[in-house]
Amino acid sequence: MPGDAKTHLFDPVRALASVRHEFGEHGGVNLSIETSSTFTVMEAGVMPEIFQGMRGPEAGGCYLYGRHFNPTVLVLARQLAAIESAQSAYCTASGMGAISGVILQCCNSGDHVVASDTLYGGTWAFLHDFLPPKCGITTSFVDFTDLSAVAAAITPRTRVLYGESVSNPTLRVADVPALAALARERGIKLVIDNTFSPLLLTPIRHGADVVVHSLTKFINGASDLVGGAVCAKREFIDQLFDLHTGALMLLGPTMDPRAAYEVAMRLPHLALRIREHSARAMELATNLESRGVAVCYPGLPSHPDHARFKHLANPGFGFGGMMTIDLGTLDRANRFMEHLQNQEAFGFMAVSLGYADTLMSASASSTSSEMDEAGLAQAGISPGLVRLSVGFTGTLQDRMAQLERGLQSVGALSQS
Ligand code: PLP
Repeated sequence: MPGDAKTHLFDPVRALASVRHEFGEHGGVNLSIETSSTFTVMEAGVMPEIFQGMRGPEAGGCYLYGRHFNPTVLVLARQLAAIESAQSAYCTASGMGAISGVILQCCNSGDHVVASDTLYGGTWAFLHDFLPPKCGITTSFVDFTDLSAVAAAITPRTRVLYGESVSNPTLRVADVPALAALARERGIKLVIDNTFSPLLLTPIRHGADVVVHSLTKFINGASDLVGGAVCAKREFIDQLFDLHTGALMLLGPTMDPRAAYEVAMRLPHLALRIREHSARAMELATNLESRGVAVCYPGLPSHPDHARFKHLANPGFGFGGMMTIDLGTLDRANRFMEHLQNQEAFGFMAVSLGYADTLMSASASSTSSEMDEAGLAQAGISPGLVRLSVGFTGTLQDRMAQLERGLQSVGALSQS
């Protein structure tokens, strides 16, 4: 039974360690970067067999062309499949490359998506603004925590339920087992964006069909490249690379092998980073809440989905590095962030997440600004909501003091 606490226990660190180590070409401990965009065959007859899908990376070790498969990218893909408990995976040039490819693979013109009303702004814009006129694919946005609303929104043309395991930026936690049961019952796919919670949550263990990631965030962790991934059953990943109908093959959001190498080098310390992000965020959020600040963090017992997160989470990684503070107005949010960056060197006013330093943005006017006013109101994203991706540089004590002074500078915390 997906969702049963006893059967879903999963250790992604052990799963990652079980992936065969890829040595470099000359026996180096690091994998080599396969830079070639095209691959030779020793017998001419092999080439048509690759085109016909009779041979490939997993069938005879045959490669064709870099937009199709690349050996270095495939190493990273195998590692990501392991941490997401997926049969297969492949990487894309960005998180949006993965998301758009998956939706387009699942839906034809006239089809329909039921999506969470709280999503990364780019995903929201893709579903809300891009797909209807270009492809005739429509989306109903509903409160994903309200299962009866999700069920009621499903039509005979619905092909996908789409949500984020931890929503951006409101940090609501999807009830993946229940959504997966609903998707199965209606014969549709549950696609979950797990960008906010790698290692912490493993949606496929709870019944999700497809997991997408922006590797740009926690998984890479250095804010120095853009990448994405799709993790799913082998059949679905193969469909994405079909020469005639594969969205990744034909739209071409290919990951560069140099980027794949960089990300693969950071996976071994992903668990250490996630634990530290989580521990810091937990301390900061607990302290702020005890002093009356409007903080939202899934690790706090007051969070509406705290119990669900705890139930679904893989043990030992905490509750993640994302938290929000609602300062009511955009002006206060801006002054707070300016103080923290320019007076305290606490972190950076920047979008994105999962960096070593703390990144701060006012979601309604940045990463959720694609949403219209009604959408922002429906999702509960107020103009003064500041999203923090809590970093791990400096000492926790100093960071707490800086954060307190930042809140005091806008009157959101009294002097102690
Ligand atoms: N999914 C989530 C939850 C995000 O926050 C983002 C970007 O901020 C994306 C997907 C898109 O990823 P990328 O910028 O790598 O295309």
